[in-house]
Amino acid sequence: MSKRDYYEVLGVDKNATADQIRKAYRKLAIKYHPDKNPDDKDAEEKFKEAAEAYDVLSDDEKRKKYDQFGHDMGPQGFPGGGGGYYSSGGMSMDDIFEHFGDIFGGRFSGQWGGATGGGRRRRGPSVKKGSDLRVRVKMTLAEIATGVTKTLKIPTQDKCTYCNGTGAKDGTAFSTCPTCHGSGVVQTVQNTMFGQMASESVCPTCNGTGKVITTQCTHCHGTGVEKKDNQVSFHIPAGVVDGMTLTVSQKGNFPRNGGAEGIPGDLLVVIEEIKDEELIRDGNDVIYNLMLDLPTAVLGGSAEVPTINGRARLKIAPGTQPGKVLRLRGKGIPDYQSRMPGDELINVMVYIPEQLNDEEKKLFESLKDKPGIKPDQSTVKRIFSKLRHIFE
Ligand SMILES: [Zn+2]
Ligand SMILES: [Zn+2]
Repeated sequence: MSKRDYYEVLGVDKNATADQIRKAYRKLAIKYHPDKNPDDKDAEEKFKEAAEAYDVLSDDEKRKKYDQFGHDMGPQGFPGGGGGYYSSGGMSMDDIFEHFGDIFGGRFSGQWGGATGGGRRRRGPSVKKGSDLRVRVKMTLAEIATGVTKTLKIPTQDKCTYCNGTGAKDGTAFSTCPTCHGSGVVQTVQNTMFGQMASESVCPTCNGTGKVITTQCTHCHGTGVEKKDNQVSFHIPAGVVDGMTLTVSQKGNFPRNGGAEGIPGDLLVVIEEIKDEELIRDGNDVIYNLMLDLPTAVLGGSAEVPTINGRARLKIAPGTQPGKVLRLRGKGIPDYQSRMPGDELINVMVYIPEQLNDEEKKLFESLKDKPGIKPDQSTVKRIFSKLRHIFE
């Protein structure tokens, strides 16, 4: 499924300020508001699309990631998962009003259609979502280059199996809530500048379930959750960078008293790159500093260099200058999005001997005035022109 660019959705440019983004979203949210467009599926989709774009672009961290990786953070934060930051269903209407209700000035906040639109009542209890868990995963360059599947034991607050997360004995020991008499909602009257406004809100006693626990589940003491070491497997794609956070959907904590409908939070996987001892990562390229001995640089030969997945032998041409950069094409790290591999760059240095014995000194002295030893002006120019990249 191809998704529209979030900036395009909101009709702002890439450099838009937070204020411009907020204003653009507000305009769209009012235009496509469900109260103004009853039973209009298309408007509802547009409304959700705008909310999703706003959710990402109004959050500095999410926006930065989106700018870098586009929709490919996937619903699970993984490319190929399909769909971007949200699963194909996107955000629900309730999510949107819970998150951004304040953008409408509070009037629609918390519930939509209930008081103003008529007909559409907030359905049933609100679904609870548990908290997210965070885990750091160390990766070597070799693992980053190929991608890797990790299986970890994660201490998690899980749904109690004895009461199905309800906290009530056997999941059935309930009676009707005395506050709302089972409706799950309570009426409140607020004084506003427009006069008195009645609105419904979720019953605080039963959290909208309409039921209260009569006998607690003894296994979880009424909390609906229990501690478990969950085994979680997930794939980390090639090309990730240090500090990147991937999201494994619904592998976090189960909410307390979440009941059968409760949704676990997410597992956030933070990538930590283990520094390689020899190779330096530079984006998708890796750099190796190669020190040649003087005779090999002068006469040519070969040199062994480390690569991400082993070692490679390189041919060294006679007269190789220090500062020359050799390139092993495709031996770098695949791009996170395009999968195009980077290169390995070999930065050639030449070791100038620092301590010579008498015999070695004599050899160098005997070379001093030989015709091939000193460069002329045009040679100097040619060599420096090739090394210009060093200073640019
Ligand atoms: Zn109640
Ligand atoms: Zn229980």
